[in-house]
Amino acid sequence: MVVTATLTTSEELREVYRDVRFIFESYPREAENIRRLALEVKTGIEATDPLIQEMTSEVCPHCKSSNCTNLNGRFDWCDLIYLAALGLELPPFRDGLRDEEPCQFLSERGCILTRAMRPHRCNWWYCEPLLEVIEKWPPRKQRMFISSIEKITQTRKRMCNEFKEIQDGVRKAG
Ligand code: SF4
Repeated sequence: MVVTATLTTSEELREVYRDVRFIFESYPREAENIRRLALEVKTGIEATDPLIQEMTSEVCPHCKSSNCTNLNGRFDWCDLIYLAALGLELPPFRDGLRDEEPCQFLSERGCILTRAMRPHRCNWWYCEPLLEVIEKWPPRKQRMFISSIEKITQTRKRMCNEFKEIQDGVRKAG
């Protein structure tokens, strides 16, 4: 079971990230396949980028209500496993921000995080106008995009389930 609750304070993020990194540093051989799965997720996200750029460049310039809110910019436990598996640092995180306020990672020139670094909930949140663009795509292109997203989501789930097995084993061993 993958824990998807978001972490809302910088202290919480640092604490959970420390625990996650401990597993990668202390059990490198056991964590090897998790690193491989994380790389597969990253490669998958980067492969979808051109299609996402295509649809957002069509929709977002005309958008009146940005979906870039703090709610979408929150990392969950699985995101931290992904970042730690790739040896990436946590982006600096500000506390006390309301969910509905503009996302802390949003700059005048767009998001300061690369797509592969963004929280899963942000990458896979599609508003109605974006879904309408996908629906207008030729069926083969739609199928290709949707199966890419499904594969990324499944691989991410496997990655976190495997991590949880190791972490539970370590905790049981005490
Ligand atoms: S992480 Fe970036 S893309 Fe995602 S909501 Fe925040 S600013 Fe927008």
